[in-house]
This record gives sequence, C-alpha cells and structure tokens, in this order.
Amino acid sequence: MALSPPTELPLKAFGWAATDTSGVLSPFHFSRREIGEDDVSLKILFCGVCHSDLHTLKNDWGFTTYPVVPGHEIVGIVTKVGNNVKNFREGDKVGVGVIVESCQTCENCDQDLENYCPRTVFTYNSPYKGTRTQGGYSDFVVVHQRYVLRFPDNLPLDAGAPLLCAGITVYSPMIYYGMTEPGKHLGVAGLGGLGHVAIKFGKAFGLKVTVISTSPSKESEAIDKLGADSFLVSKDPEKMKAAMGTMDYIIDTISAVHSLMPLLGLLKLNGKLVTVGLPNKPLELPIFPLVAGRKLIGGSNIGGMKETQEMLDFCGKHNITADIELIKMDEINTAMERLHKADVKYRFVIDVANSLSSL
Ligand code: NAP
Ligand code: ZN
Repeated sequence: MALSPPTELPLKAFGWAATDTSGVLSPFHFSRREIGEDDVSLKILFCGVCHSDLHTLKNDWGFTTYPVVPGHEIVGIVTKVGNNVKNFREGDKVGVGVIVESCQTCENCDQDLENYCPRTVFTYNSPYKGTRTQGGYSDFVVVHQRYVLRFPDNLPLDAGAPLLCAGITVYSPMIYYGMTEPGKHLGVAGLGGLGHVAIKFGKAFGLKVTVISTSPSKESEAIDKLGADSFLVSKDPEKMKAAMGTMDYIIDTISAVHSLMPLLGLLKLNGKLVTVGLPNKPLELPIFPLVAGRKLIGGSNIGGMKETQEMLDFCGKHNITADIELIKMDEINTAMERLHKADVKYRFVIDVANSLSSL
C-alpha cells in the first residue's frame, strides 16, 4: 500500500528504507518526533536483522506501508531524556525491541503483556499519531521510557542486539508453556536467528536439545559451537522415523510454509509444540496425531516489557548472546538475499553507527 507523504516531524532522521515490494533498501531521509516528557532518545549503535524485517520488506503479510525502515533489535546510547524520565540517563546503554507504544490501560497492559495489547504500536510499519513508525536501520530513535530496556553491562552490544526480538520470542513461550523442566527433551525446528538462541536457553534451563533442520551443513556447528545435543535433518526420513515420540517440547521457528505432521510425530504423549515462526500462508493442522497423543499446539508473540527485561538480565547472568555476522549498512541487500536462503550464522547485525554515518 502506498501512502501520501507522512506528516513532517521536527527532528531530521536518516536510515535505509524499502520503497516497494522488491524489498531493496536504499538511503532515506525522514523525520522523527521531538522528545516528549516521557521519552528517551537514543543514538543507534547496532541493529539486528530479523526475518520479520524481510517479511515486511517483501510485503509477505500484506500490511506493509512503504517507505519502510525496518529494524527492531536496536541497541544504542541514550542521548537525551524527557523531564519525567528517572530510570535512564544520558550515556546509558539501552535496547529497544519490537514495541514502542501500547494503550497502557487495557487488561493486557495491566499485566505487563503489552505485546498482546490490541493497540500495540510496533517499532516500524505502524501508524502513529498521523505518521508511521520507522525502525532501527537508522541513526536515532525516540521512544517512550516504558519500552526502553536496560542493557546488561557484561554483554557485548552487537551480539546482544538480537536478544531484543529473537531472544524474547523464544524465551517467553518457554517460560509460559513450562518448557523449562531440567532433563526434558526440546526440539528446535529451524536453525536461524530465533532457533540458535532457543538452543542456548534450552541448555541454560538444563534441557536436552535437538535441532530439527533442513540444512545438514549446520550440524557440526550446532553441536560444537551452539551446544545442541543432537541434530536431526528433517529431510532424512529414516532419522526422522527413529526420533519419533522422543521429544517433550518443540519450538517451531520456521519462517516458511511447512508441514506440522513430522514435528507432531516427534513429540511424546502430552508433548507441546509452540510455533513462533510467521509464514505468509496458513499451515495445515493434522488432527489425528494431536488427538491420539493428547498433544498441544500453541503460539506466542515476542514478550512484554517486564519479561523482556527479565530475559536480558537472565542472559547477562548466563552470558547468553547471539552468534552474529556483523555487516555494514550498505551490505544489507546481500544480507537479505542470504537470509532468504537460510544462509546466515546465525544473525546479521548492522554496525549502524560506524557505517551509516560514513555514507
Ligand atoms: P531465520 O533466521 O531466517 O531462520 C528461519 C529458519 O527456518 C531458517 O534458518 C531455516 O532453518 C528454516 N527454514 C527456512 N525456510 C524453510 C523451509 N521452507 N522449510 C523448513 N525450514 C525452513 O528467521 P528468524 O529471524 O529466526 O525468524 C523465524 C520466523 O519467526 C520468521 O517467520 C519471523 O517472522 C518469525 N518471528 C516471529 C516472532 C514472534 O513474536 N512470534 C518474532 C520474531 C520473528 P534450517 O536451515 O535449520 O532449516
Ligand atoms: Zn523480530
């Protein structure tokens, strides 16, 4: 959908935007709001590249408004705060994830579940007071203090950035659905940005972790570097058959349409499959294995602000970060092509401050 030009705001900003469904990103001048009483302004240092950015650029979900500046795994340094802001100061290391506003009055917001507020404003591609939000592939952002996260001191900012979306998206369902019992067996379907962080949480919770992947080339690293206990190539029918009925939980991070049948087959009686991947078309729901094995399928959407802070603190304590490929801003289009082909180990992160400014 193309829009008339958005309302001009007081602060001049610069980033990279896609202007049509080709999804190709290029330099883009736009504007941001002035810092309000409750706002924090941050200079963006690094921004992770989530597959949701790619879905949005390509209008996979049918609700992209162009031009769009993606990016919702933002870390930066606070440069200015509004008068009501007491918890953040100039110079603080902070993060901003997928949400920048919610109604703050509904039942869900009251329970720290802003991620399920019906009036959530996303970091990019959301209508906001007559204009559109634009994301972190840009020089700075102004965000209400409620949606700003404190970044643990001991974590590197670049490798920590993906925790703001990939991290919380797998952490939240593991907690909510009780996928944390030590000794239980977790399957991680799809070894990309979300999947590789799920392995790390799984190991931190004391689980046995098996990766379920279409990419045999990822096997040795999954085990030697990421800490998985075993690796199952989903295209290998013999191995899949042998693994049937062995898993207590599966977290499905697959970004494309796929069959749930083999995944349900891997679960034990009472097994839980939680899907967080967002393919652009519905998946078929196989009823028989669900009914016959009293299995459960659930979904989950990022996490609330309180839980996101808890997740970051947990990562600080357990030294959990993403395995990243650091790129320059002008390498983003090649990175998107590689992300489309599941060819990333395991998250691209843009060195925004050092490469955007030099353009
Ligand atoms: P990613 O890095 O691209 O990883 C996705 C992985 O899925 C790929 O690495 C690949 O793993 C597997 N895959 C891709 N195409 C496949 C296919 N046709 N069949 C089977 N497996 C396939 O993506 P991501 O950033 O982790 O995001 C994953 C999904 O989660 C996306 O749809 C994204 O939009 C969604 N997401 C949801 C939330 C939420 O709140 N629910 C938050 C963030 C992202 P292998 O090479 O191992 O097969
Ligand atoms: Zn994301």
